Amino acid sequence: MKPFTDAHCHAHEFSDAELEEFGESFEVIIAVSDDLASSERTLVLSKRYAFLAPCVGVHPWALGGDDLHELAKRLEDLVRRGGVLCLGEVGLDLAFVPQTFEKQLEFFRMVLDIAKDYDLAVNVHAAKAWRQALEEVSAKGVRRALFHWYNGPLDVLSEIVARGYLISVNPTVRLSAKHLEIAKKVPLSALTFESDGPYDYRGLHLHPRLIPETVSLVAKERGLDESELLVVSKENIMKFLDLEY
Ligand SMILES: [Zn+2]
Repeated sequence: MKPFTDAHCHAHEFSDAELEEFGESFEVIIAVSDDLASSERTLVLSKRYAFLAPCVGVHPWALGGDDLHELAKRLEDLVRRGGVLCLGEVGLDLAFVPQTFEKQLEFFRMVLDIAKDYDLAVNVHAAKAWRQALEEVSAKGVRRALFHWYNGPLDVLSEIVARGYLISVNPTVRLSAKHLEIAKKVPLSALTFESDGPYDYRGLHLHPRLIPETVSLVAKERGLDESELLVVSKENIMKFLDLEY
């Protein structure tokens, strides 16, 4: 049994050699996409690498001058082809691109309608828009949602947990006291680990290879065995994807 899982990884940005290496230690990597082109690529890769769980989506940073209805329609066309397990990376962002928030909200609601219609999980980006994103997901009655790199308020975290949704803990837990506090407080039923690789953040090159040390750090802080965290995070990911465990 391969021990590791990654709840949020931009697998389409890695080489075949790297993906093959990940396949040696990862049971599942949830592969999110940034736009339509990378969504196509993610679907191709998921046929080649069975451990990749494909998500199609358009990142809130990638909402340019596109016609949102056309974009949502093309996303739905990808879903109709089959094999899609979730929608992501999708969501709202008030931290980096607050100027496009209205557009983000309009598109996110369309994405959540697709999630609802096809009973898909959503892999959500919600930087500084945690409450808004949770409210949208809940209001649409989406059954399975994961709030990636959760760094929001503790009261919103409690609501995420109460609704049966998940969060993912990022390797930057070692740089951020707030993220560490969340990693320590989140109930095990809502905990997963992610790399968000490949991405550079405050001198750290985010990559799936950082997941083992992230699990190890959180296990130590919580006074638990790493093996326990690996098992529960894997179970949570399987439930999120509606896959047999
Ligand atoms: Zn991401």
